[in-house]
Amino acid sequence: MRSQLLTRTTQPLRATTLSRQSFQQSFRRSYADAAAPEAPKPRRRFRFLRWAWRLTLLSGLGMAGTVAYSIYELRHPAEQVEPDPNKKTLVILGSGWGSVSLLKKLDTENYNVIVISPRNFFLFTPLLPSCTTGLIEHRSIMEPIRNILRQKKGRVRYYEAEATKIDAEKRVVYISDDSEVKGDVSHTEVPFDMLVVGVGAENATFGIPGVKEHSCFLKEVGDAQKIRKRVMDCVETAIFKDQTEEEVKRLLHMVVVGGGPTGVEFAGEIQDFFEEDLKKWVPEIKDNFHVTLVEALPNVLPMFSKQLIDYTESTFKEEKITIRTKTMVKNVTDKFIEAEVTNPDGSKALEKIPYGLLVWATGNAVRGVVRDLMNQIPAQKTSRRGLAVNEYLVVNGTENIWAVGDCAVTNYAPTAQVASQEGAFLARLFNTMAKTEAIENDLKVLSTEQAQAKTEEDRNRVFDLIKERQKQLRRTKQIGPFQYSHQGSLAYIGKERAVADISWLSGNIASGGTMTYLFWRSAYLSMCFSTRNRVLVALDWTKAKLFGRDVSRE
Ligand code: FAD
Ligand code: NAD
Repeated sequence: MRSQLLTRTTQPLRATTLSRQSFQQSFRRSYADAAAPEAPKPRRRFRFLRWAWRLTLLSGLGMAGTVAYSIYELRHPAEQVEPDPNKKTLVILGSGWGSVSLLKKLDTENYNVIVISPRNFFLFTPLLPSCTTGLIEHRSIMEPIRNILRQKKGRVRYYEAEATKIDAEKRVVYISDDSEVKGDVSHTEVPFDMLVVGVGAENATFGIPGVKEHSCFLKEVGDAQKIRKRVMDCVETAIFKDQTEEEVKRLLHMVVVGGGPTGVEFAGEIQDFFEEDLKKWVPEIKDNFHVTLVEALPNVLPMFSKQLIDYTESTFKEEKITIRTKTMVKNVTDKFIEAEVTNPDGSKALEKIPYGLLVWATGNAVRGVVRDLMNQIPAQKTSRRGLAVNEYLVVNGTENIWAVGDCAVTNYAPTAQVASQEGAFLARLFNTMAKTEAIENDLKVLSTEQAQAKTEEDRNRVFDLIKERQKQLRRTKQIGPFQYSHQGSLAYIGKERAVADISWLSGNIASGGTMTYLFWRSAYLSMCFSTRNRVLVALDWTKAKLFGRDVSRE
């Protein structure tokens, strides 16, 4: 082979009559001919990489195209159909998970839809704990309600107001504009034919003195902003000149009350903030900054499986977060909490725990407007945790009021997952109801036409139309009762670890760790409301990885 190559390549050298150009061409050809039998080896080796690269490029281009198209669609909404006053008025209270999921799937051409909520945006709550440390900017998880409504075919009216009272009998909602800027009218009433209550819940305080005055909650954007500011205030005040050691310890003690997922996720986020950024930029605090999670029950995350509870507790130990279980807070002052601690021997003791920041995350309580509605309806007398509903989410004791999400009492936990499935169910129900009603109205008109028909031919024509409509009516899918499909539970526990109880076939998979954390991130990224939110959240994560979190106090 080698000699063959040499022979062939040396031949042109001997042909002195050949021009330089033809020599070069001939040399190249000869070289190529000679090299040909050996060439496939490296090619085959790199073929896989070449295809992988092409596929990556193609999927990258595909993804960029999809993102570009969805951004274009978002920026260029189509003309909307004006509401028809002859249609039923459907009033939706709230702009949270339940109401927005209903709006997303509802055919708004079928009703006069009015949305009332004091919050003119949808909030992606699962990522709210990340906003308390600036890992994610709050605007990245907010979707303006105007964007959502403008994408609907039929125009929807929106009033930024709070429903202060629902009169079930008169079919009226009383609303109040509680924003800073008020016009001549700030209180009015909105009549409805159908009403969906999706006002969520408020923070449970169990009437414990001092909670409302001294602690921060974690439900709304304002709460996350308040916590972010307060953390930095505690840090800066702790290193104020001549501060006593005891006071430094108190100021740098971050206490979280409630070992449910909100409390656990927040504890993980704040500890990450300290480990990854605060410690670096404010080294003076590194020996005194401390996070404590206080829980009344014997363990945290009661809704997760035992092995994930153990995993969370051991991860917190590694992260140096203290968990105080069997510790029930009874009183809150501006500088410490008083808690009843159950000792291992069953005896109880009262303990004072000083704090700089107190985050209160002890679950949900019924909103005033919902409590008032419950009091009007005898069938709601025995309900404690919210509006009791039937399997079609109709509020018991009413015919035209439905409830979704945290304000409704079902067999399921008050989660975003449940609220959004309930909202989607109501959209299907209302779309079907509107279709059925339209066909039934047509049938009524056709029956009258048939009775008034003068000729046999006319009668037969109308009869055919009636048969057609009846067929359509039968085809219109009857909706069965609401059935929740549990996809699983996920929670971030800090140190780039998460826990997940995922429903799989008829069983359950429990997993925890860094891979679960990557799954948690990708799951929540894909669940964000819009492409805009997804892009902003991904950018925030990248920004924090590159530059760290911002430690300035706004
Ligand atoms: P909300 O989403 O709370 O919406 C209520 C809406 O009603 C708001 O727009 C509010 O402004 C409006 N409203 C309030 N009062 C009135 C009134 N008087 N009149 C008119 N409108 C009113 N669940 C999960 O499944 N997974 C998670 O990872 C998860 N993470 C969470 C993290 C945090 C920090 C929190 C606080 C909750 C989390 N949840 C999670 C729970 C989830 O957010 C709730 O279950 C869900 O928001 C309930 O939806 P909703 O529509 O009933 O209420
Ligand atoms: P929660 O009701 O789940 O937990 C509150 C905890 O506070 C309970 O464990 C309770 O024992 C404890 N508690 C109550 N009073 C106390 C006191 N005085 N002293 C000490 N501890 C006390 O509340 P949450 O975490 O705010 O969650 C609310 C709802 O939102 C739940 O349904 C939850 O599943 C859902 N959520 C889900 C996620 C997630 O899936 N990642 C995240 C946040 C919230």
